[in-house]
Amino acid sequence: MQIDPEHRAGADQISAQLAALGFVLPGSVTHRQARCGKPSCRCHADPPVLHPPFWSWTRKLAGRTVTRRLTEDQLRDYQPWFDNSRRLRALVTELEDLSLRVLDQDPRWGHK
Ligand SMILES: [Zn+2]
Repeated sequence: MQIDPEHRAGADQISAQLAALGFVLPGSVTHRQARCGKPSCRCHADPPVLHPPFWSWTRKLAGRTVTRRLTEDQLRDYQPWFDNSRRLRALVTELEDLSLRVLDQDPRWGHK
């Protein structure tokens, strides 16, 4: 099958970026300020005195939502892995789009 060299080069370039990605963590991280479980705590008063905000990491695990807290230090270390996750999805989408363009050019589809 004949593939446009430009498309082939594009696929090689995306594949190289995928190969260089490294670690990838699923889910999303948000900065949250929640009330605790103690009803007598100041965070339940009116007006509330909230606890310091924290980093909350949420992901899906076997259909359930799992949440864990991350320290500032952990977030600093793992942020690139979360960024890589976004990058991975973007690259896969790019590779799919490119593959679909190649497929569209297949002469065996015949003329419309
Ligand atoms: Zn509290």
